[in-house]
Amino acid sequence: MREISLYNTLTKKIELFVPNEEGKVKMYTCGPTVYHFAHIGNLRSYIMEDVLEKAFRYAGYDVKRVMNITDVGHLSSDADSGEDKMLMGAKREHKSVMEIAAFYRNAFFDDCRKLNIKTPDVVEPATNCIPEFIEMISKLIDKGYAYEAGGNVYFDTGKLENYYVLSNQNEEELMVGAREDVEEDVNKKNKTDFVLWFTKSKFDDQELKWESPWGTGYPGWHIECSAISIKHLGEKLDIHCGGIDNVFPHHTNEIAQSETYLGHKWCNYWFHILHLNDNSGKMSKSKGDFLTVSLLESKGYNPLVYRMFCLQSHYRKPLVFSYDVLDNVKAAYDKLIKKIASLGRDGELEQDKMEVFRTAFAESLGSDINTSQALTVVYDVLKADLNDASKRALLEEFDCVLSLDLTKEVEAGEVDADLAAYVEEMIEKRKAARREKDFARADAIRDELLQKGVEIKDTREGTTWSILS
Ligand code: AMP
Ligand code: ZN
Repeated sequence: MREISLYNTLTKKIELFVPNEEGKVKMYTCGPTVYHFAHIGNLRSYIMEDVLEKAFRYAGYDVKRVMNITDVGHLSSDADSGEDKMLMGAKREHKSVMEIAAFYRNAFFDDCRKLNIKTPDVVEPATNCIPEFIEMISKLIDKGYAYEAGGNVYFDTGKLENYYVLSNQNEEELMVGAREDVEEDVNKKNKTDFVLWFTKSKFDDQELKWESPWGTGYPGWHIECSAISIKHLGEKLDIHCGGIDNVFPHHTNEIAQSETYLGHKWCNYWFHILHLNDNSGKMSKSKGDFLTVSLLESKGYNPLVYRMFCLQSHYRKPLVFSYDVLDNVKAAYDKLIKKIASLGRDGELEQDKMEVFRTAFAESLGSDINTSQALTVVYDVLKADLNDASKRALLEEFDCVLSLDLTKEVEAGEVDADLAAYVEEMIEKRKAARREKDFARADAIRDELLQKGVEIKDTREGTTWSILS
């Protein structure tokens, strides 16, 4: 087993990872709210969690990873106000909530497949676990940590000495960030109390409702992750992941519920990924044409170029998306793949020499998942005094974590299907521009293609294109 040290949001320190059970990792990831496509910011979190899981496996651990699918209960404000996001999606598209959930769940896993993100061992939609939520809430009421008011059931944060154990901020600060558009909920005993079960939904048309001891209603968002984690990973969780916005209130509330329910400490390590923002600031799904994997594909980018874009930065640094940077990464990626494809296959593996690079790669990952350093080891291998077979074998091994298709066979002359579709589309646009005598636009399209390494030629048979070597 190789060592892995990680920054732990709970202790605010980089710590050596020591699981509860030797050699085994119990890992939980907050899954997507399936009311819309994931934006590439959401997917930054899933890419880095994927790398974390694979880094554990590379280090020799046996990992069980569980992820929920939020298909009920997540309101438009994380602080229990606004409208259920699933209902917003259903209204937007004139479909039922379950149709929306199925469609966007599939879309999410399509994106993951394109980004080489492994599907977790267990994926559990919240709507599958209503009995588990009811059981957990009942016990919280019995233990005196939850109360009914105005028809809803709330968690009583006033009963906890250390409610802010994870976020460690003062109350004022937290209120500013998380509760902008909140009307005061007069049922709450304390401002930070949160809903475990809604029965007095503000919306008559709330589509998904279940019977409960407290009336017909639906669960709050936070209870999902606590109950699903405990259901599949038991009472002691090793590591819990999510984007940085989940620290408060979501993960703070998960700790409050889980630990009062279990009566002991629940999760030892908390792993949070900083946000990806665009030039205009925070990523949003309400801004119309937001950044998705499909949008990048329609512009001719292989989704793995975006994965490499993410791996070049540390997960604990905020990242700003720009097409200029993505173009640079694309050029670097294409060059790297070409270089690897040109490696020969003959020769005995030089195991002793290879071990040095394995160690360097594992140490990079073990240093709080330093993915940019791990990528540097890839380049070091290519420059090293090793035969081609050894280089190829090492890169194949590293790709179990990086998942950039570094050594995937590409037939001679085969071109990425997404790039081909993009080039064809651009050629059609150029034709249209020429028909309209907009030669400036036609030239701009030709130059844009050239920048992406594609040369077009106008022949008597029509426009042809080739990839520049
Ligand atoms: P959601 O589908 O809204 O529940 O979010 C799914 C995941 O994406 C959660 O772990 C969020 O913390 C994370 N997330 C949301 N916005 C961003 C962003 N801009 N960059 C990185 N991760 C994000
Ligand atoms: Zn969660």
